[in-house]
Amino acid sequence: MKYKAFHKLSYGLYIIATRLNGENAGYIGNTAFQVTSDPPKIAISCHKKNASADKILQSKIFSLSVLKKESSTSLIGEFGFMSGSEVDKFRNIETKTASTGAPILLDSAVAWFDCNVVSTHDVGSHILIIGEVADSEVISDDEPLTYDYYREKYKMLAPKNAPTYIEKDKLDEEEATAIPENKPENKSKPESKVEKKETNVASSYTCTICGFQYNPEEGDPTMGIQPGTPFEDLPDDYKCPICNAGKDYFKEN
Ligand code: FE
Repeated sequence: MKYKAFHKLSYGLYIIATRLNGENAGYIGNTAFQVTSDPPKIAISCHKKNASADKILQSKIFSLSVLKKESSTSLIGEFGFMSGSEVDKFRNIETKTASTGAPILLDSAVAWFDCNVVSTHDVGSHILIIGEVADSEVISDDEPLTYDYYREKYKMLAPKNAPTYIEKDKLDEEEATAIPENKPENKSKPESKVEKKETNVASSYTCTICGFQYNPEEGDPTMGIQPGTPFEDLPDDYKCPICNAGKDYFKEN
């Protein structure tokens, strides 16, 4: 089995949310898809350990907000990598209440769906939850965020509870054993020059929590870090722009 084949599947990215006993809960997910047209139903796959899963099962409602292409990294980080028990994920975002009672994200979303749960299926680590769409709306004409763009732009891993999570070691192992013919562009470059350049640049670092890669050549414009800043020169209070982890959680590549 080739794990990288799974990265060829296309997805969007969504904030999936519910409200139970007056409290909002939600997470970021890529696994949401329309499964019937009349009446329209949408399925989501939610990890059993995800606190939101239990709340959706109890409330029997969920909303799906479709994120726009340029969404804030802190929004993605908090909904993707943090628990509602650690932080109030909804404290800084604009929401409105859907007809079912579920919270809908207004900023950073291009459209939303409001759903009533009509059936659930235990599929092992996850629960497949199917909701009938009670209402939906388009918020803006901005381009929606795709999972591929998110992965390419931020060099991100999927959160461990995502249905599409693949251990980094497995992907690295495949990369290491890939045959050279898969990368013909390398053959046209003088290898000695490429190697020399790499030894002169500062190391990149990876966040061990979410997989975000800090590249010194690019800096981190989202956190006000100029291109050309080595990791060692980042301020002590630098935080991962995705999951908010401190510098101690980064590992040199
Ligand atoms: Fe991180």
